[in-house]
Amino acid sequence: MGDAAHVLVLEDEADLAFLLRKNLEQQGHRVTVCGTIRAADDALRAATPDVLLLDVNLPDGSGFDLLRGLRARHVFAPAVFLTARTDEADRLTGFAVGGDDYVCKPFSLAELVARVGAIVRRSRQATQGAYVGPGFRIDFDRFRLVRGDVEHALTYLEAEVLRYLTARPNQPVGRNDLLNEVWGLDRFPTTRTVDTHMLNLRKKLEADPARPRHLLTVHGVGYKFVP
Ligand code: CA
Repeated sequence: MGDAAHVLVLEDEADLAFLLRKNLEQQGHRVTVCGTIRAADDALRAATPDVLLLDVNLPDGSGFDLLRGLRARHVFAPAVFLTARTDEADRLTGFAVGGDDYVCKPFSLAELVARVGAIVRRSRQATQGAYVGPGFRIDFDRFRLVRGDVEHALTYLEAEVLRYLTARPNQPVGRNDLLNEVWGLDRFPTTRTVDTHMLNLRKKLEADPARPRHLLTVHGVGYKFVP
């Protein structure tokens, strides 16, 4: 049961919702079932599930619009659309709004449950290589930082600096510690190099780089990351 997860099922067909709940619970997952966008929105404000299974045609709107809104709110939980719409255009919309998979009805429940398990495993591996903060996400292994709608490329050293600092939240880290641990050299780069990297990182991470909220200077020491 190492892949047990919290799954949100948004499906207005009661029979299908019942079967999804039953089959997912048999695999040890915790399931929240919602029949409307509104109910799903409320549930998502209360807790962020590990996986979203989203119908597209719902009584009060479209699952596509819901996910588009969630991604804009930085909810990055993997999402699978379940729908009778089989047009290529619809499937492409599903991916364009941030969906991870698209399953056409009717589908095999056993296969869907297996897919959910695979998605949970994949996303758990991926989050070990990522840090998600309020309004931003850092992918250390892909060298990407997403803040709002903007994606920034990170250099290898920038990614490693962030990896080091985010692993030590609220802890002052000396410039020399960063040089030793991240640069791994004690001769060529100077503490000035660290400061230059921090300035660049603030431009990517901070809403207002002149008034940083996450990458703070600790006078006489170095820096600290505040989540
Ligand atoms: Ca429906």
